[in-house]
Amino acid sequence: MTLNNIEQWTQKYPLLKNIIQLNPITWINPSRKKMNEVNSLPLSYKDILQVEKLWERFAPYLVKVFPELKSSNGFIESPLRSIENLKLKLNEYFDNEVQGKLFLKCDNELPIAGSIKARGGFYEVLYYAEQLALKNDILKDDDNYEIFATEKFKQFFQQYSIGVGSTGNLGLSIGIISAQLGFKVSVYMSADAKQWKKDLLRSKGVIVHEFDGDFSEAITKGREATKANPKGYFVDDENSKYLFLGYSLAALRLKKQLEEQNIFIDKEHPLFVYSPCGVGGSAGGIAFGLRQVFGDSAHSFFVEPIHSPSVLIGLITGENEKICVQDLGIDNKTEADGLAVGRPSAFATAISNLLISGIYTIEDEGLYRLLYLLGKTESILVEPSATAGLIGAYRINKTNYISENNINPSLITHIAWATGGDLVPKDDMEEFYFKGKELYFETLDAME
Ligand SMILES: *Cc1c(COP(=O)(O)O)cnc(C)c1O
Repeated sequence: MTLNNIEQWTQKYPLLKNIIQLNPITWINPSRKKMNEVNSLPLSYKDILQVEKLWERFAPYLVKVFPELKSSNGFIESPLRSIENLKLKLNEYFDNEVQGKLFLKCDNELPIAGSIKARGGFYEVLYYAEQLALKNDILKDDDNYEIFATEKFKQFFQQYSIGVGSTGNLGLSIGIISAQLGFKVSVYMSADAKQWKKDLLRSKGVIVHEFDGDFSEAITKGREATKANPKGYFVDDENSKYLFLGYSLAALRLKKQLEEQNIFIDKEHPLFVYSPCGVGGSAGGIAFGLRQVFGDSAHSFFVEPIHSPSVLIGLITGENEKICVQDLGIDNKTEADGLAVGRPSAFATAISNLLISGIYTIEDEGLYRLLYLLGKTESILVEPSATAGLIGAYRINKTNYISENNINPSLITHIAWATGGDLVPKDDMEEFYFKGKELYFETLDAME
């Protein structure tokens, strides 16, 4: 089905009118299935276990080349932090009481790449490197993977090129790990990518190509250029199964972290997770993992900027990656750089359609206010995109979702996924913080 003009779309799906007018909205997904009704996923729980095995094989290599991973024995993981101080502040600010527990999953602290992209991006490159090494008989099953750090391996990977299109963070993750392994790596950056990210990549020997257009254009150009080379491999954020799988492992790890805090998820004690969403790969991979690990007791919500609701319009219309925000006259201009995505991932969105609970949208100003409040109450600084999940519990509180699912609100564990921040230069972070502070006090004035 193709509806050619915006009016026809809004007639068919009236909620789109609100979205096109850039009003923040909360949407509950009518297509969410119970796990026993889902019978056609392209991936399974076993695949997540395979991801974990790969990370275990590479752990000795990772410790060797990234000394900061010594204390975690080569594992790349982030802490789960209670943010009850922020919760009390937000309860007051929104005049709306969230009763369950509120945590922050601190992927802003993920080592090396400083964002959630370390999960998917590192996994896809390590998987590819392992495949190449096995196929070319320079690696045997029982080898210690420290040999990936040898000159022989680096020279071997020099023949191969890796390309990726990025608004910034994916480029950082793919660029850093690929260059470390010895690959020739090119990052195709959209116009909104920050200068410091380009500088950092160039300092690591990564070739950075800059484009005037948005993320989809950067991807298209990067895909063409990379695939023109027979020894080129393109990490395709618009359709990657491997990125998705890399993200999904977070769910297994999260289960252990919750248990360490004496939290056991079941039907009566459900888990609500709020994930900032760009193409929907990280958010979708984690949602997939959570449903595999916790079944129907995991409730995943995505959050997108009002100017970039790409997964939202894909799911509402059922068109998935065949529709982009520009088709509806929405400009895809947001300061939440990891989320400035006009067209959703084909691979991830088809799965998310069956598994997620809903999506809400947020204004850029709201992101800065949350950035300030999180810094003020919990001394945690993240990038603007990474704050978007913090109001999830409040948004869902205002819908019928909790009562319709017969959930006792005081038994919910809410997790806002903080997706990036640690590599942001100090001056930029200070600017974000003070901007958020200003906006916060402006709204307080407006409330009086
Ligand atoms: C990439 C990114 C996201 C969203 O991930 P997608 O896979 O694009 O949905 C969220 N936050 C930050 C900071 C990111 O860099």
